[in-house]
Amino acid sequence: MDLEFSIEGDSEGYVQFECPYCESEFRLMAGEIQNEEEYYHEIFCPYCGLADEVSNFYTREAIEHAKELAMNYMYEELNKAFGGIAKKMNKSKLIKMKWKPLKKINVQEMRTEDSVEDEFECTSCNKHVKVLYCAGKSNVFCSYCGVDI
Ligand SMILES: [Zn+2]
Ligand SMILES: [Zn+2]
Repeated sequence: MDLEFSIEGDSEGYVQFECPYCESEFRLMAGEIQNEEEYYHEIFCPYCGLADEVSNFYTREAIEHAKELAMNYMYEELNKAFGGIAKKMNKSKLIKMKWKPLKKINVQEMRTEDSVEDEFECTSCNKHVKVLYCAGKSNVFCSYCGVDI
């Protein structure tokens, strides 16, 4: 089962990520992390500089969002399956079976709100990362190539 979901970026096209190591949040430009020519499988945390698979950087909200979509998908499949059984059983007239479609969870559009984070441009790959500079760290790492910005 392959479910796709998309997250809309903020007004500048940034989407939120969360570091699996230090739990800091940062933002990357949607079009830079994934576009027609390149797709990053691994990114660096701009705060602690550690790298991991992109999927490990999804925010809790994004994971919840994906779960809700998966649940809805499951409900649909269940409804289809039980609907079929109910029809067959009703035909046999031996057993009456009623079924009600399961209610789908209302999945809200996921949108990234604008934030106060600072935008940095990497001097070696020219890509962008948005971090909270007041986090107290003097070093910001590029999420793509891992160097100090
Ligand atoms: Zn980190
Ligand atoms: Zn870079």
